[in-house]
Amino acid sequence: MHRFASVASFRNPSCCFASITTLGKCRDASKLCATSQASRHFAAQAKCAQAKARHEPSHKPKSLSSPSIKATLCQGLGSPCYVFSSCLVAVLSACAHAGLIDRAKQYFYAMYSDYGVVPSPRHYTCMIDLLGRAGSLDEAQHLIRNMPFSPDAATWGALLGAAKVHGNIELAEKAAENIFKMEPDNSGMYVLLSNLYAASGRWYDVRQMRLKMRDKGIKKVPGYSWLEVQNNIHTFAAGDTCHPEKDRIYSFLEELESRMKQDGYVSSIKLVLHDVDEEEKEHMLKYHSERLAVVYGILTLPKHKPIRVMKNLRICEDCHTAIKHISKLERRLIIVRDSNRFHHFKQGECSCGDYW
Ligand SMILES: [Zn+2]
Ligand SMILES: [Zn+2]
Repeated sequence: MHRFASVASFRNPSCCFASITTLGKCRDASKLCATSQASRHFAAQAKCAQAKARHEPSHKPKSLSSPSIKATLCQGLGSPCYVFSSCLVAVLSACAHAGLIDRAKQYFYAMYSDYGVVPSPRHYTCMIDLLGRAGSLDEAQHLIRNMPFSPDAATWGALLGAAKVHGNIELAEKAAENIFKMEPDNSGMYVLLSNLYAASGRWYDVRQMRLKMRDKGIKKVPGYSWLEVQNNIHTFAAGDTCHPEKDRIYSFLEELESRMKQDGYVSSIKLVLHDVDEEEKEHMLKYHSERLAVVYGILTLPKHKPIRVMKNLRICEDCHTAIKHISKLERRLIIVRDSNRFHHFKQGECSCGDYW
């Protein structure tokens, strides 16, 4: 795939974008742009910067310095409009992940005057994501209100994500309401909002959400996590008892759990939707699919290898905290790709900076 991308596809900007997006999803971003062919194409440079920033936001790649971005964009002037527009999305998204707020604003507000590109909903979504990350929720709302077109579900989703992280339930409700109008069957949004209500102890609202889901026939998508060990894919569901090595996994998880508690881990039982007793809630979180997959990776993969886990839904807050502790205690690099982004857990920290 890497060879194909570097040799053949960079002649065509669309292939270039697709290749780097795919490579960005399946390997270390640091190795991503090693090929000289890749880094010479302006579209590849923009996309690489985005992929790197997604993986290592604190790293602030050189390709995101102001002169580098300018040079990259100047190279792209005259290329097809959709390619150039996608490059600007990549640049904005890279700035968002790297926390370069002022730089992103500068490019966004000068897109038309400097490059003749009219901002599209995707550019606006990047900006709302960026402002949300920075905690500028008022500015994000102001931007949504003043968009020259109606915001789509992705734009509201970015605002909802920001509202969730900053615990602003009112804003989350407003964003979710708009998403439900466009995507009435989006089970993820119901779950996200329910989680928010649960986190603030609003059990009546949690029950209302559950009733709404039942009435509309919306089923919560079950969460799965998987990882590759010796060319085999091992898939786990929450509380899985089907894996042939389940006894080994669960006993190691128990041992790990007590070490995590000594290390300062407190489980976020407020996240469990059901109003069951505290001990039961803790039990329910402990066996989430991502945790089982990570533990299986520790037990089976050599020490020097990173543990790569994929999950079909967003990683939950409690597992996120738990895996941070695990990475520190076990001295392992753990990479979890959830439905939203990559999380690189290393020495007790995550690359997302707790924003996802
Ligand atoms: Zn979890
Ligand atoms: Zn993370």
